[in-house]
Amino acid sequence: AAGVVEAVAGALARADTVRRLQVRANADTPQDAARARRFGAQGIGLCRTEHMFLGERRKLVEDMILARSDTERDRALAALLPLQRRDFTGILEAMDGLPVTIRLLDPPLHEFLPDRTDLAVRIAAAEAHGDLPDPHDAELLAAVDRMHEENPMLGLRGVRLGLLVPGLVAMQVRAIGEAVVERTRAGGTPRAEIMVPLVGDVRELRIVREEAERVLAEVSAAAGVPVTCPVGTMIELPRAALTAGRIAEEAEFFSFGTNDLTQTTWGFSRDDVEAEFFSAYLDRGVFPVSPFETLDLDGVGRLVRIAVAEGRATRPDLTIGVCGEHGGDPASVRFFHTAGLDYVSCSPFRVPVARLEAGRAALEGTEVSDTR
Ligand code: PEP
Ligand code: MG
Repeated sequence: AAGVVEAVAGALARADTVRRLQVRANADTPQDAARARRFGAQGIGLCRTEHMFLGERRKLVEDMILARSDTERDRALAALLPLQRRDFTGILEAMDGLPVTIRLLDPPLHEFLPDRTDLAVRIAAAEAHGDLPDPHDAELLAAVDRMHEENPMLGLRGVRLGLLVPGLVAMQVRAIGEAVVERTRAGGTPRAEIMVPLVGDVRELRIVREEAERVLAEVSAAAGVPVTCPVGTMIELPRAALTAGRIAEEAEFFSFGTNDLTQTTWGFSRDDVEAEFFSAYLDRGVFPVSPFETLDLDGVGRLVRIAVAEGRATRPDLTIGVCGEHGGDPASVRFFHTAGLDYVSCSPFRVPVARLEAGRAALEGTEVSDTR
């Protein structure tokens, strides 16, 4: 067994010396970040913030989204701020010196709202007892119904939520800025980057970037500590890929969200890949392999190439990565190498495989200008 371990370590070391692609990991807890580092990740390419809003914080999140007044919403945001600051401080500490790309909240909204059936059952039970239902339950039910989305994966997600809930972007950016201050004061080298999800139009990104820069400048001035965080965007809608030249005017980096990009290019919901029809359709032999597993070069891959070319035409030093599941798929990693990306980001356990594949792609001599 020792021989195998040494052989793998040797292969990884060789891959690391030749590869051009950097390999980062997707992680959203200090534990996962530390694990990613042990597997050789050179940063966090995607720190999702959705899970940070579940569990005990659910009530605050409900108050934030369904707030009956500005005061109620501001109170919820003020309570979330120190919790988020702690989340980010922990991850920045675990990754000290390496880049950590923190993505602003990108929910499917229904995961954050109270369950409609629970509310309806509680109200019906009160009525069955001859009691008046809790007025708060009735209000919540009405609010949940108003927010109902037929298709949550195509609904009030990503930047859309950030633009509609006043103070949400500012709260997350402030938490990131304050975490940077805290780590800097502790003698660390925090390298936080702010990533905006599900952007379809450059104007969405411009609004968020301007707000982020305003908040970071405030935090920095108040603390007397320099705080610079690059602001960039996910490219995960066909429209974002096709207008990448304009989007790059507002973005310091791109990261392809190939999960959503595959969903929206193919018109298959990500939620349906577990459905019986999806595997039956695969069995029918239309695709050799699921486009959600291995990047579809003709459709999604072309969008990637277009976005890389147009983004770099606007901004030659644009950093470009991928953080969808394809970032850890061997065949897809080779494609990202030839497409000229700077890094792939995948789950911590897939980091070694991505390192090997990135090395192999470089050795095969496939050049950036290659087309299929
Ligand atoms: C993606 O869409 O590829 C992505 C990385 O974001 P998420 O999976 O969180 O939607
Ligand atoms: Mg996505």
